[in-house]
Amino acid sequence: MKCFKCDAKMEKGTTTNVTDLGNCLVIIRNVPCYKCTECDEFFYTGDVVEHLEKIIEIAKVVMQEVSIIDYSKVA
Ligand SMILES: [Zn+2]
Repeated sequence: MKCFKCDAKMEKGTTTNVTDLGNCLVIIRNVPCYKCTECDEFFYTGDVVEHLEKIIEIAKVVMQEVSIIDYSKVA
């Protein structure tokens, strides 16, 4: 897999996804992603994107000012 920005190699890793919903902030830790070894580019696979959307939906219902969720614990 190659970076679409700089063409360098991308490696599997994890990142922290932060979504600002305006009245609440959803922080999801340990999200699996691919990271570029040269620049700061990263991307999520389709199933991860879907799962993040679900987590954010749940967080919206809870509506805490800041929600910190561990991806690996809800996956
Ligand atoms: Zn890159």
